[in-house]
Parts: sequence; C-alpha cells; structure tokens
Amino acid sequence: MSHPPFNALVVQEGQPRAVIKELTRDQLPPVGNVLVRVDWSGINFKDALAVTGKGKIIRSALPFVPGIDLAGTVVESDNEEFPVGSQFLSTGWGVGEVTWGGYSRYQRLSSDWMVPLPSGMSTRDAMIVGTAGFTAALSVRAIKTHGIAPEAGPVLVTGATGGVGSFSIRLLHAAGYKAVAVTGKADVAGAYLRGLGASDVIERSQFESGAARPMDSAEWAGCVDSVGSRVLEAIISQTKRHGVIAACGLAGGHELLTTVFPFILRGVRLIGIDSNTCPQPERRAAWEDIAQLLQEASFESIAHEILLEDVPQACEQIMDGGIQGRYLVDLRSAGD
Ligand code: NDP
Repeated sequence: MSHPPFNALVVQEGQPRAVIKELTRDQLPPVGNVLVRVDWSGINFKDALAVTGKGKIIRSALPFVPGIDLAGTVVESDNEEFPVGSQFLSTGWGVGEVTWGGYSRYQRLSSDWMVPLPSGMSTRDAMIVGTAGFTAALSVRAIKTHGIAPEAGPVLVTGATGGVGSFSIRLLHAAGYKAVAVTGKADVAGAYLRGLGASDVIERSQFESGAARPMDSAEWAGCVDSVGSRVLEAIISQTKRHGVIAACGLAGGHELLTTVFPFILRGVRLIGIDSNTCPQPERRAAWEDIAQLLQEASFESIAHEILLEDVPQACEQIMDGGIQGRYLVDLRSAGD
C-alpha cells in the first residue's frame, strides 16, 4: 500500500541550510523497530545549534532531519509496550543528532528510546515540557534525592527565563522550595518569573565575574544551573554546607575554574545531569514527576506554538539570546 507524502524540515549542504521537503515513508532511514506519526515537537538549545549550524550537533551525514524531542502515535511496531495506536514521547538518545529526529510528520525510532505517555498528559503537554522540562525534572530530583529539603534554604535557578530554567522554577515551587531566579533579563522578565513561582529575581551580572573568593558567604542550599562558566564558579563558592548544585547546561560557557575548597570544606556536591542517556527507570520516574505537576499547574504560559516552517527563524531567535519559555512545534498539518 502506498502512503501519502509528508513534510519534514531537512538540513542540507549549502544555503538555505534548513528547508521544508516532502518525503515518503521509505525515505526515512531504516532505524529501530517502530514507525511513529509525530504530532508535536519542540525547540531546544541543541536544536537551535543544529538548525542554524552554529554548533556541531549533527553527527551524521546531510541531508538530516533534526529535532531531539517528539511525541505522537505509534503507526507500526513489533514491541508489545508500544502497540499500534498507542501514544509515546521521546527525548534524547541521539535522536535529532545521530539519527533523524522530530521535525518530520513521520519518523522511525527504537522502542528503547521511547516512553509511554504518562496518564493525564497529552502529547502536546509532553512537548511543552520536552528535553528542557525533563532536564529540569532530573535536576530537581537530584537536589531532592541528595537530601536537600525545602527548609534547607533558597535554591537558585540560572538561565531562569529559558526552557530548563522556567520548568525548574515551576517544579521547585510546586515541591515547596524557595526558588530564586537568576536572569540576564531581570528588568523585563520579573513578572514572568514570579508568575512561575520565583520568590526572588536576581540580575545575572551579580554572578558573572565568577567567585570573589574560593569560599564566599554561604547563601544557597542548592542550584539548578544551565549557564556554567563564571556564574557557576560564583555559585559554587556561595553554596551552603552540603548543598547540591545540579550542573546541566552551558548557556554562558563550558569552562569552569574553581578550587576544591567548597567540596572538601563544605561538602558541596556538584551533580552532573545528562538527559540524553538517562536510564529508563530514572527517566520514567522524572516524567511521572512532571505528570504530577501537570495536575496542579498549567504549562501554557511557558509555550509559544509555531508550525514546522517557522522553526528556522525561531532557532535564529534562540541563538540571539533566547526566549521566554519554550517553542512548541505543531506537526499535525505536515501530513495525514
Ligand atoms: P534556552 O535557550 O531556552 O535558555 C537558555 C537561557 O540561558 C536563556 O534564556 C538565558 O536566560 C540564559 N542565557 C542565554 N545566553 C546566555 C549567556 N551568554 N550567558 C549566560 N546566560 C545566558 O535553553 P535551554 O533552557 O533549553 O538550555 C539551557 C542550557 O542547558 C543549554 O546550555 C543546553 O545545552 C543545556 N541543556 C542540557 C541538557 C542536559 O541534558 N544536560 C538538556 C537540555 C539543555 P536568562 O536571560 O534568564 O539568564
């Protein structure tokens, strides 16, 4: 039986780099054991790097379909956990980097990369959350599971207006923590951040000169840091005894100059977060945390809905300094 063509955003050699192309199912690379119809995707920092070409994210030959997040419905499958007609979400595992990703109405996946849609969550909700919200959930879980209770003190969230930052504030607030937003946009984003649940908003420049001393006055019980570099250096030096920093990003740079003093004299713990290869049990537990949060809080104020053809421009905007919240990509008009 022949199937109608569908649209995908394809990164190719030459200019323009990313174009909408009509594809057929047999043009999808023969990967995995499941064929899915994608309803929604999102745009993460990595996607913006891949689409604009400003970072070496794509580790496969061109032409290539990016998009590290996707959610939709199973169309063909040999896996009992993902029968035809079931709904799924997928983030990470090299999808959109090594194998073709979510900016396509149809895609092939391995069932090892997929998560059954948690009950009470729509595919649209899942993609408002996406890798950014999932990374936030892993970061907040790291803070909790390493023993930081809300009474321990305020928890910083850097890159606060971004995807990871926005969800971290929401999740921390819902769990009873005092979340303090650190942002480069304190003048314009205060109302947005307080609306998410931030108790205070601090201008990022206060941290950008790095650590004043190896151990500065200790103020923070924890931190979700998506910025890295000087900002993280300052935060390490200001973290309270046995505090926990979940290091998950590098929006401000990848380098880190610090000393061992906060670690050996205050027992500060720097926990790395890698959402890409997060094992399935922790992955599913984090998605359940998100489903729980969804029962109490709407994510709509975080979402900006766009179509597949708007993705290249949105990616340029992200590279120019980010947006408030998350782009949500609607693929339902990209094919039957
Ligand atoms: P966004 O683009 O949505 O947000 C990044 C935020 O960082 C911006 O909104 C801005 O917030 C701040 N920022 C931007 N540029 C700079 C800069 N030059 N210096 C300091 N801060 C800056 O990205 P995401 O939230 O999706 O991702 C954030 C980071 O986390 C990225 O580095 C990404 O690669 C990483 N990441 C890591 C994952 C993992 O598994 N470890 C998974 C997902 C993302 P503000 O203006 O409020 O300060």
